[in-house]
Amino acid sequence: MLKITPYLGIIVVLVSVGGIWYPKLGYVVALVFLTLMIISPFRGRWFCGNLCPRGSFNDFWIGRISRHLPIPRIFRSMVLRVPVFIGLMGFMIWRILLTQGMVDKVGMVFVTMCILTTSASIFLGVALSPRAWCTFCPMGTLQRRLGRGKYQLKLDPDLCIDCGVCKTVCPMQLEVNEIAEKPDCIKCGRCVEACPKEALSF
Ligand code: SF4
Ligand code: SF4
Ligand code: SF4
Repeated sequence: MLKITPYLGIIVVLVSVGGIWYPKLGYVVALVFLTLMIISPFRGRWFCGNLCPRGSFNDFWIGRISRHLPIPRIFRSMVLRVPVFIGLMGFMIWRILLTQGMVDKVGMVFVTMCILTTSASIFLGVALSPRAWCTFCPMGTLQRRLGRGKYQLKLDPDLCIDCGVCKTVCPMQLEVNEIAEKPDCIKCGRCVEACPKEALSF
C-alpha cells in the first residue's frame, strides 16, 4: 500500500493544463519549492516520497504504463545532476527576471517549467521507470544536499535474510539492504512494509 495519495497527482495536470489559461496556478509550483525546502533540512527527501504531486502522478498514473526497466546509473551521477540543476534553475531565474515582477508573467514561468519537467518525467517514466526523473530532478538534488543524512533508513543485519524483496519494491531502485547511507531514499516506506523479517525501520 502506497503512503503517498494518488489525488496529489491531479495538481500536476491542473497546473500544466489549467495554468495555460490561468497563469496564477503556477504559484503552486513556488509553494512546492518552499515546502520541500522547509522539510528537507530535517527529513531529507521525505517530501519526494510523501507529498510531491509529480511523485504521486508518476507512481500511480505513469506506473500503469511504465516499462519498469532499470534506471541508468548515469542518472544518479552528479556529472548529470549538477548541470541539470544549474541549467534548469538558471533558465527559470533568467525568465523570472525578464518578467519585471508582473504577477501573471511570473506565474507563466512556473507553468512553463512545470510543463517542461512534467513532459520529461512522463517520457522517462514510460520508457524506463516511474521515478526515473526523480533520480536527477533538480528539486530532488536540492533536498539531497540540504538533508543528506537526515531521517535515514535503518537496517538490522541480524534480521535480514538477503531475500531482496526490499529492492524490488523500491521506486528509486536503491540497494536497500546495504548498510551505507542512502541520500536519495525518498522515505516512502515501501521497503519497510514489504520486508518479511521487519529488518528495516526509520
Ligand atoms: S525528485 Fe522532484 S519530481 Fe520527484 S518527487 Fe522529488 S521533487 Fe517531486
Ligand atoms: S526485504 Fe528485509 S530481509 Fe529481505 S533483503 Fe530486504 S531487509 Fe533483508
Ligand atoms: S529505500 Fe525504502 S523508503 Fe527509501 S525509497 Fe526505497 S523503498 Fe522507499
